[in-house]
Parts: sequence; structure tokens; C-alpha cells
Amino acid sequence: MIAMVDQALVERAKEFHGHICPFVVLGLRASEIALGRLGLSKAGEKETVGEEVLAIVECNNCFTDGVQVATGCTIGNNSLIYLDTGKNAVTIVRRGDWRGVRVYVDSEKLREKYFKKEAIGLFEKVVTKREGTEEDSEKLNRLWTEIGLEMMNLPEGEFKIEELKVKEIERAPIFESIKCEKCGELAMKTRIEYVEGKAVCLGCLGKSNALIGRGIVSNFEYPLVREKK
Ligand SMILES: [Zn+2]
Ligand SMILES: [Zn+2]
Repeated sequence: MIAMVDQALVERAKEFHGHICPFVVLGLRASEIALGRLGLSKAGEKETVGEEVLAIVECNNCFTDGVQVATGCTIGNNSLIYLDTGKNAVTIVRRGDWRGVRVYVDSEKLREKYFKKEAIGLFEKVVTKREGTEEDSEKLNRLWTEIGLEMMNLPEGEFKIEELKVKEIERAPIFESIKCEKCGELAMKTRIEYVEGKAVCLGCLGKSNALIGRGIVSNFEYPLVREKK
């Protein structure tokens, strides 16, 4: 029997994510299931510095924040791998044997079974159509938190759980930095291009890949605009 999500973890998720919602809690719960099956607890100092444990997520929504809080694998410690498949799923894997556990959430199934009709309607109005009143959004917040808390105790049977093999993923390489000859800023060597023999950064070139709300976009237009002095 694997322990359910505890209140302290939910509090940490709230601090990190800003609010309690069904998907942030589902991220916690899915991570706990996967960690439990692998006999792991949250990645600590040794694991995160050495990237010993990886969490592989497949979306950039509330769910992924739950995963980061529950596993300690974050985008900054290079233990979070982002696959741009757009699914609510997390795979936890330990380097070495590369055996992983993937937990997938069927949001359609859960919505029908656990989400109150009222909350779904309000979500449409407030979030999807952006037409809600102040009162609507407060009510949605309350309902959303309630449903979220229920997700803490969701039985394992509600998830799709697979044990699988993960192909080896490289550790984050350390690249030297090169100074851009246009702006003078240092950038990772692999992000420098040579224009007429001069090193230029992607910022100065005006395009780079970016992870935005809809996922990874290649050749995204550099959005930072400097006021001319
Ligand atoms: Zn959320
Ligand atoms: Zn530059």
C-alpha cells in the first residue's frame, strides 16, 4: 500500500504553484505512485546534484508543477525532462538500470467521475471564455480547491500505470561560454552562431526555440524589446 499525498506536500505545492487545483494535486499523486513503485522517495541532494533520478513530463501545465514539488526534479536541476507530447503523464526513472514507471492521467475519465458539473461550467466561463465575474472566479477557485484535495486520495486504479524501460538520456553537458560580439553577453557555446566570422548570440539574431504555453516552438521571435536611449 502506497501512502496517499499528505497535507504538507499539498501546502508546498500551493506555495510553488500559487493555488491548489485538480491537476497540481494529480501531479503530486502520480509522482508518489511512480516513486513508490520504484522504492524511491523525493530526490534529495545526492540525486539532484548527480541527476540520479529523472522525472520525464509530457506537458507544461499545473500537473508538471505537482511533479516538480513531489519529486524534487526541476527544470533548473536538469532532472526534469520535458517531452512535448502534450499529455498528462510522468515517468520517473533512475539512472543506472533505466527502469521507469510511467503514470498517465485520463483527464476525460476523471472529469466525468469526480469533477462537479458546476465547476466544469464555471471553468468554461471563467478560464476558457474569460467571461466570468469576480464572484464566478472566487467560486471556481473554491470548487477547484475542493476537487483538488479529493485528488489526493485517488485510488491507483484511476491511473494508467506502466513499468517500462527508458532509453539512456545524457547528463547535462557543461559547455564553455562564448562572448557575443554584438551585445557582449556570454552565451552557451552551442547557442552561438557565426555571421561573417563573428560570434553572435541568438538574442541578437532575434530567434531561438522557446517553451511557451502551447509547448516548444522553434524559431520563436525574440520578444525582448529594449527602449532606445
Ligand atoms: Zn493549477
Ligand atoms: Zn548578442
